[in-house]
Amino acid sequence: MTDRISAPDTDPDRLDGLKALVTGGASGIGLATARLLAARGADVAVLDLDPSGARAPLHGIKADVSDETSVREGVGAAVERLGGLDILVNNAGIGAAGTVEDNDDAQWHRVLDVNVLGMVRTTRAALPHLRRSAHAAVVNTCSIAATAGLPQRALYSASKGAVLSLTLAMAADHVREGVRVNCVNPGTADTPWVGRLLDAADDPEAERAALNARQPMGRLVSAEEVAAAIAYLASPAAASVTGTALAVDGGMQGLRLRPV
Ligand code: NAD
Repeated sequence: MTDRISAPDTDPDRLDGLKALVTGGASGIGLATARLLAARGADVAVLDLDPSGARAPLHGIKADVSDETSVREGVGAAVERLGGLDILVNNAGIGAAGTVEDNDDAQWHRVLDVNVLGMVRTTRAALPHLRRSAHAAVVNTCSIAATAGLPQRALYSASKGAVLSLTLAMAADHVREGVRVNCVNPGTADTPWVGRLLDAADDPEAERAALNARQPMGRLVSAEEVAAAIAYLASPAAASVTGTALAVDGGMQGLRLRPV
């Protein structure tokens, strides 16, 4: 193993010369991450169902993580455009509300297909390229739902529990190959996703105020704050960090609170 932070006067947060791929990178946490990675010097491609939100210098590529062929072609197109791959951010995900009685098998299959198998497919396609990198990192967007025991989120929580386990297993499988694997666990983050949920309420402003009031810090986490954690885990600064879950939740987990 080589020392991955090459010189003491090199800023290990910088990503100059590195090539990154962010799934679900055209909105919310993924878009904030893609922008931050690019600002730190990486060349960044975005895989998304609708890549129109990912503007230059980001390379937007249309792909569906729930479709094996689409992922293979999308990752191939990204690697070709970037000329290799050092960083994979598995971020695409969808939500689901309800108890086990509320979601039928088709809904379970759909959410697990996107949230869990989506990461499996992208990682499988990316690994041959990541193994050639001297700074290979995978960061998965998990959630505090993985361990919090959230009411009315059985399916979503199960999908993120699987993402947490998958992160640890992948970290173990690939540590000797020089591929680090970590995840971030956001609390409720202020993204278009949460905006859509609030807009569906009878009184969105009152709902937003109530949601803020339930947070330990009295406010939601920002997409940029989650992106900063992802960028750290993806960077040479985290060269000795693998198999961890970094909570970015305003203290929700550490303070043992539950976002009910
Ligand atoms: P968002 O809806 O703003 O963005 C998600 C992006 O993923 C969109 O651009 C969408 O087009 C893309 N996407 C969805 N399905 C896809 C598919 N099959 N293939 C390719 N792209 C697809 O959502 P967000 O809030 O930024 O969430 C991003 C991730 O963060 C998700 O994995 C989510 O579970 C996780 N997360 C979000 C929160 C939160 O409060 N917002 C909290 C914890 C975890």
